[in-house]
Amino acid sequence: MSGNLNVSIPYLLDRVKGLSIDESLRLLSETFKGLSVFSSSFSLEDQVITHAILHNKLEVDIFTLDTGRNFPETYSVWNSTNERYQTQIKAFTPDYMQLEAYLTKKGPNAFYESVENRKECCHIRKVEPLTRALAGKKLWITGLRAEHSAARQDLQMLEWDKTHQLIKFHPILHWTTVEVRQFITENNVPYNTLQDKGFVSIGCAPCTRAIKPGEEFRAGRWWWEDDSKKECGLHEHE
Ligand code: SF4
Repeated sequence: MSGNLNVSIPYLLDRVKGLSIDESLRLLSETFKGLSVFSSSFSLEDQVITHAILHNKLEVDIFTLDTGRNFPETYSVWNSTNERYQTQIKAFTPDYMQLEAYLTKKGPNAFYESVENRKECCHIRKVEPLTRALAGKKLWITGLRAEHSAARQDLQMLEWDKTHQLIKFHPILHWTTVEVRQFITENNVPYNTLQDKGFVSIGCAPCTRAIKPGEEFRAGRWWWEDDSKKECGLHEHE
């Protein structure tokens, strides 16, 4: 069950079964009217969902976490998305007092020195702003795809997020990379040009690198750490 909401996850899963992305987003944004939110990092997947929301004029707030360490290309696609859809994607930034204290004490690149420092940086730049962005919402839409990691294989399109006490919806969980690319091309959706240079999972610039053919989707993130430590705290199952 979905906490104190009046609808259950099994019920919603049944309702979205077989629906197109447009249909499922419409259904859920109407079910959670004014209480649904979409977090975008301007990945290919997120651009698909942004297009579906804005093209269909759905009542979903779109926000991004501006960590302050993003690639210039990420800021470019943010800008071109605002222009293309005549919209203003909402920005959440780190709490300046926490960030100033961290940078003063540890310096700008402390995340390379220890997992603890890296997690602290991710907490300040991502997790805390995310918590503010999700406050009071009932539905969190994400661009997660099952193909991206073993941990996502058993995910369902809707799940309960204990940390933030809301339902998460992954509308393109079962899409393939080919389908995502095809959607972007057919709808002329702006996308991050780093995607054409071997960058597949794009986060902050100092913590992301291109991957080689055959490497796992997230191999380019925090590559200096053990695989078991590679999570930033945004999603519970990673
Ligand atoms: Fe900091 Fe790197 Fe995490 Fe970005 S990905 S918040 S720069 S540690």
